[in-house]
Amino acid sequence: MHHQKRLNDEIAQIKLNILTMLSKSAYPTHQHLIQILDNTANNEWLDCAAEKLGPEYAFLISRMTKLEAAVSQIEIGQYGYCCDCEEKIPAKSLELDPATQRCTKCAQ
Ligand SMILES: [Zn+2]
Repeated sequence: MHHQKRLNDEIAQIKLNILTMLSKSAYPTHQHLIQILDNTANNEWLDCAAEKLGPEYAFLISRMTKLEAAVSQIEIGQYGYCCDCEEKIPAKSLELDPATQRCTKCAQ
């Protein structure tokens, strides 16, 4: 399924963005964080990042949370269904954003 590849590609990209931002940071704690993030598996990585990083990372982390949620849904066979009404999410919406969580009606 090509959505899964798109999700995984974007997760890898965001992880890279966060690491790049951290590597440019002047805070010594951020340098330490790079090591932690580098050595942590994806799902734990996200918890760790969400807990330790400031508001300037909030957008990246919330996007990553959505992507990880979609990947988990693929794993349990729930991918492509609205998280509110459980209707099928239109293929068009998933094409636009593979991490879409709601059908067109519930998204409004
Ligand atoms: Zn819905």
